[in-house]
Amino acid sequence: MDVDAFVAASDAYPIPTSPDGAPIHFSYGTAGFRTIGDVLASTVFRCGAVAAIRSSVTGRATGMVVTASHNPERDNGVKLVDCDGGMLPVAWERHAEEIANAPTHDALRAAIELAQTPAEAHLPQHGHPPAHAPTPPPPHVFLARDTRPTGPALAAAAKAGATAIGAQVTDCGLMTTPQLHYVVYASYRNLPCDESDYFARLARGFGNMVQGVAGGTTHDAASTIVVDCANGVGAAKLAPLRTALGADCVLTLDPRNYKYGRPESLNNEVGADFVQKEKTCPMHGGFDGVGADARCVSVDGDADRLVYFRKTTGESNESSNDSVELFDGDKIAALMATRVADLLKRCAPNAFEPPLRVGVVQTAYANGASTAYVRDTLGLEVACTATGVKFLHPEAEKFDVGVYFEANGHGTAVFSDQTLSHLDDAIARASSDEGDGEESDQCAALKEMKAMTEAINPAVGDALSGILVVEAILLAKGWGLDEWGDMYADLPSKQ
Ligand code: MG
Repeated sequence: MDVDAFVAASDAYPIPTSPDGAPIHFSYGTAGFRTIGDVLASTVFRCGAVAAIRSSVTGRATGMVVTASHNPERDNGVKLVDCDGGMLPVAWERHAEEIANAPTHDALRAAIELAQTPAEAHLPQHGHPPAHAPTPPPPHVFLARDTRPTGPALAAAAKAGATAIGAQVTDCGLMTTPQLHYVVYASYRNLPCDESDYFARLARGFGNMVQGVAGGTTHDAASTIVVDCANGVGAAKLAPLRTALGADCVLTLDPRNYKYGRPESLNNEVGADFVQKEKTCPMHGGFDGVGADARCVSVDGDADRLVYFRKTTGESNESSNDSVELFDGDKIAALMATRVADLLKRCAPNAFEPPLRVGVVQTAYANGASTAYVRDTLGLEVACTATGVKFLHPEAEKFDVGVYFEANGHGTAVFSDQTLSHLDDAIARASSDEGDGEESDQCAALKEMKAMTEAINPAVGDALSGILVVEAILLAKGWGLDEWGDMYADLPSKQ
């Protein structure tokens, strides 16, 4: 770590001042640093160093994404990814802020020194990293950005900061936020982590989840999903995902609002945030001609959240857009939990000893009907945390299988390392029990659960992976939106 070189290089990225001449203060919130893109150069430069220091402390690669998610196009931000692919430890948010706002060279040095204190390490709970190895590898940072106009310059500043302090930087270019989380997750576990590896993993998981369906009734079971890409980075990544799924896939993804890079289009009355909050169809013509029978999904500007919807008929006119029936994060969590519960019943009684603990993690914003459905109808545990993935994800990790979603569509399903290993053992036992005979229902259920662990992004919520898992479950259950909606009726609520 070359702190002196970094401090000297920081002079080229001065902290901007507000109109009254005072330095702007930057805060690391739930989504990282986020504000107008034009004032962020010093922050991302210094975050390059934070990511490098975190890598040096943990002995493993970390990540940073230049994105402002669902915010307007003029905004930008930077989010740091811890070495296990998850969120930066909450305690390090303070280090990031102190380094970002340090007003002098001495203050910057002191903030860096404090972050390197062993008591401040907050290493991940998982057992993989050889942290504090006798000869630790040089710090390594994976970098990605979304499609915003300020993205390339800010990514260059981030790279300059990490390089100045002595880190190796792998610039992944344009990526969704969850993709970059997966890259770091995979690097931590010594798995292949190229983009093609990731999409191949998702496609394999999806294909194996629907194997039984696809084998017999390909044509009847085929479905077309209309995807609102928010004119963001999700649009850029839908193409490689479709390639990985293959031309004969039972699922057709029909992209709308895919013109990323077109000025003033990103998140502008399109995307998951707009659809979920306004409960109306994406605007500006992308959904003209889409009927009320079409299954639609909206992702946000960095493709880490999704909500499903369909148009409700008879309410469209020139001054108001179509209203929609929404299938939000609560409904997605309930669907995923339902399938896990279905599969576990088919695995019973002896596949897992002791039985797996399956739980759904929600926030206080969750609809009460979804909580009652998970607890009373499915018979699963429900946990409640504060809003924010940094609280939901660790709570989900306390279960063998933890499903978490915020109502706004951030979420995923987490299978513990121990569960993954038990699942492999159970499949091996079930396969050897049946010898050359026909595959048992127990074995098929175990294999479908294994496939789900591949189709889902294990690091963080991922809209593209979420679409595959939802579609695989609906196909496997033979459900459409009617049956999905009938799981429970939302109780009246206000945002
Ligand atoms: Mg987002």
